[in-house]
Amino acid sequence: MKSTIKIVLTIYAILLVFVISGCFYKSDVEVVSTKPDIPKVEGDSMPSKEQDADNESDIVQTPSDPSEEDTTPTLAEVIDVNGLATITNETDILVLVNKQRNLPSDYIPSDLVEPNVPFSFDEKLEKRKMRKESSEALEALFAKAKEDGIEIVAQSGYRSYKTQDAIFKSNVKRKGEKEANKSSAYPGQSEHQTGLAMDITSASVNYVLEEIFGETPEGLWLAKNAAQFGFIIRYPEDKTDITGYVYEPWHVRYVGKEVAEEITEQKITLEEFFGLNKS
Ligand SMILES: [Zn+2]
Repeated sequence: MKSTIKIVLTIYAILLVFVISGCFYKSDVEVVSTKPDIPKVEGDSMPSKEQDADNESDIVQTPSDPSEEDTTPTLAEVIDVNGLATITNETDILVLVNKQRNLPSDYIPSDLVEPNVPFSFDEKLEKRKMRKESSEALEALFAKAKEDGIEIVAQSGYRSYKTQDAIFKSNVKRKGEKEANKSSAYPGQSEHQTGLAMDITSASVNYVLEEIFGETPEGLWLAKNAAQFGFIIRYPEDKTDITGYVYEPWHVRYVGKEVAEEITEQKITLEEFFGLNKS
């Protein structure tokens, strides 16, 4: 009996507490109810933070793959001119000219100037010239060479379609057409017509344009330093199947600093830069 009364009293007391300090209890409930929420929030936020990090890295990675594809520059289209695939962006600094992509036969760059660099000859010939932007870059390249105690000379820059035509014909006479085309271009297919290329040589090889230049201190210096001035060695030793030309350590082509550094770092060619002939 006594214990029953005790229980009833206790229940009554508890009920009183419930009723009287309802507010206090409610706030307790709130505290209690938020307490489990806190670890929940933490629990959620912890993995969600990790997910975010993953997501972020996913976000960085996911577009980076397509963006790599996206950044592969699109080649300008070619049009048929008298049966020749002829490029349509001849004035572009990144113009790609090769055995499959001809320059228009009447293309003469409008901004040809003579770079102030030493040449291997004294005559005032068209081959001294380059397009303005590449000419300035060449001057900077030669200034750095001088600073580094490297003596290089320019040998051959701009070449008109007409001159290339004459050179190719004379090479065909000497070697036959197939052999001639390994080292000299058909008219319209020479980078020299773009005004963005220069052949560079040195006294150490008696100013010849031959593979041996690549092994001289001057040739090695050129390969190492060309890119920071916007030039690439256009026809590398192990890429003849891609470029269609034999190794030419003397022939530099201006493409601008950013692209030159990318091409050089990746050890690719201008063709591969445009997504062609990727191995
Ligand atoms: Zn050349």
